[in-house]
Amino acid sequence: MPSMTTSKVSRWDQHGREHTVHVSKSGVQRALRCATCDWQKKAQFLPWLKAEEHLAEAHQATVDPAED
Ligand SMILES: [Zn+2]
Repeated sequence: MPSMTTSKVSRWDQHGREHTVHVSKSGVQRALRCATCDWQKKAQFLPWLKAEEHLAEAHQATVDPAED
């Protein structure tokens, strides 16, 4: 699980390309921004989950580089 201080979510796609969604604080919300396609979203809850969903759906990037 990502910690509360995590400021980005990175996943690799099946071609080994890294896709990153940056998470920044915006008041009580978190602002998400994808570095690959400039997708943006505001989320009050579970921003990292929404980032993972975007990476999986938009880029088929589901491999967590932190996992073996
Ligand atoms: Zn994207």
